[in-house]
Amino acid sequence: MGKAKFQIERRCEVCGNPFFAKTLESRYCSEKCGQVAYTRRKREAKKLKKLQEITEQIDDDRDYITVPEAVAIYSVSRTSLYQYIHDGSIPSINLGVRLIRVSRKELEKFFPKRNFDMKPAKRLPKLYNLEPENCYTIGEISKKYKIDDSTVYLHIRKYGIPTRQIGNYVYVPKYEIDNLYK
Ligand SMILES: [Zn+2]
Repeated sequence: MGKAKFQIERRCEVCGNPFFAKTLESRYCSEKCGQVAYTRRKREAKKLKKLQEITEQIDDDRDYITVPEAVAIYSVSRTSLYQYIHDGSIPSINLGVRLIRVSRKELEKFFPKRNFDMKPAKRLPKLYNLEPENCYTIGEISKKYKIDDSTVYLHIRKYGIPTRQIGNYVYVPKYEIDNLYK
């Protein structure tokens, strides 16, 4: 825990208030917020363990899986997955009430696998520069890397790359795109 030589202003990851970080690792403004974060991490770990147990019970050769199984395997929330199913972005078959099945092969295209590594992320949240001069538009990306627009959108969603819409254009940080396709 190195003491910072100068004061760093950060936003508390729990309450969002700005504070002066005592060390480079400080992420919370107060002991109270640190405690809240600790409780959340514990709850998260418990939830993750349950999801991991679900994934362990799914046969590798079964393609059509249930929504809870999909949420366990892939890094997507139940609410978002239902949304994608309802708007048709993720194909599904409906065998009856509460019997929706989705294809693992399809899900694979959209979402990264859930990470069951319980270690808290060491990296502090990345700061993105979403000013247009530091971004590509979707059109520029597809031209530069010869990939069609919908595949670019798919990758942006899959890898959680931030975007910003100004008028008719969607801007994506150059750094993330070059990193992805180079
Ligand atoms: Zn706080």
